[in-house]
Amino acid sequence: MSTPLVFKFGGASVKDAQSVRNVARIIGQFSQRPMVVVVSAMGKMTNAFEEVVAAWSNGNLSEANAKIDAIAAFHQDIINELFEDPTEINEHVAALIASIREGLDKQDISYGEGYDYIVHHGELISTRIIAAYVGQEVPTVWQDTRELVKTDGQFRRATVQWEQTGRAIRSNIVQDKVNFVQGFIGSSPDGRPTTLGREGSDYTGAVFAFCLGADSLTIWKDVPGMLNGDPKTFANTQKIDALPFNEAIELAFYGASIIHPKTIQPLKKKGIPLHIKSFVDPTLPGTTIGGVDRPEPEVANFILKKNQILIQLSTKDLAFIAEHHLSAVYRLFAEQGVVVNLMRNTATRAMFCINNDAIIVPKVLAELTGQFDLELTSSVELLTIRHTNEEDETRETEGLDILLEQRTPDTVQFVFKRF
Ligand code: ASP
Ligand code: MG
Repeated sequence: MSTPLVFKFGGASVKDAQSVRNVARIIGQFSQRPMVVVVSAMGKMTNAFEEVVAAWSNGNLSEANAKIDAIAAFHQDIINELFEDPTEINEHVAALIASIREGLDKQDISYGEGYDYIVHHGELISTRIIAAYVGQEVPTVWQDTRELVKTDGQFRRATVQWEQTGRAIRSNIVQDKVNFVQGFIGSSPDGRPTTLGREGSDYTGAVFAFCLGADSLTIWKDVPGMLNGDPKTFANTQKIDALPFNEAIELAFYGASIIHPKTIQPLKKKGIPLHIKSFVDPTLPGTTIGGVDRPEPEVANFILKKNQILIQLSTKDLAFIAEHHLSAVYRLFAEQGVVVNLMRNTATRAMFCINNDAIIVPKVLAELTGQFDLELTSSVELLTIRHTNEEDETRETEGLDILLEQRTPDTVQFVFKRF
């Protein structure tokens, strides 16, 4: 068996008929087989499916049905533009639309199970359409990822069962064809559809690449590669040509949002390089993660997290902050799903910078108020600079009201308020 090539196309790359044609053109340029193509739901369809879920869970079935009508119409328009004879694809899609509606009758299942059941149809529909379209030019096969990616039963954030998944993938991928699979979805041990968490299709790409021992994974995006900062926030950003796996993991950890953070680990384990390339101009070299010891070029990286809150705790009896205080705080954070973006403690104070989530934070604060004196600063932001230098740092921090600063040899972080 020759080594497979794994591609991943996200929603933005398949948002209309023209972009589907573009994806077909890109695939047509690669003759290596087997090829696995992981595809997300088209455009913003997952958000549209989430609205169906909301209506269903509120018991508003006529609204849910109207939203499904709109989803059906969106895909029908694309099909009509793409196919001269849409008879066969229409049958597949009609069956899937009917299957979504069946979900509305399920009233005795949990919210999470209903969510995954309804939402996972987005990927089923997109892959049906794209596999059929590309299949007019090259031999393709539509694969059902529910039969391949085996997970536990944690709806909405299922964990992959690697052993079974590996066996299923290796025995089902067809060698001499382009295999179309759905990103983001899987199935529980008793065969119910699950999802891996929003934006999880990158991770699906890594799962297939890992299980097949692929040559590489290529994620096709609407940007020319990974930049050293979000161009919407930072001026004069530069493209990174290559970076080590560990550096990519660190950047994702600090909040760089170009790839789903779970994607890199499996690739690193097998040394499978990840290419981030532009579907707008596939001739551009993009960014490669893995296979180098240092980033190229070696420039500072900037990551900004907005909408943070800085919580400062001190004990009510003026005692020093000790381990038992911190373990109680972390237990509460773990229970409530709080992610600590920066933490620092002194003799009498512990400081936590966390996402200012409108639902979780009030609950956490209500608990903490009983045990500690609290000082809160909301509307703060967290700036992280990796591989900083004086010039970049001075420019980016000028005029900021810095409340907390933390420095290691690689990384400096500032919690600040804008004037
Ligand atoms: N369609 C899913 C989402 O929008 C998965 C993905 O795009 O990666 O979250
Ligand atoms: Mg998506």
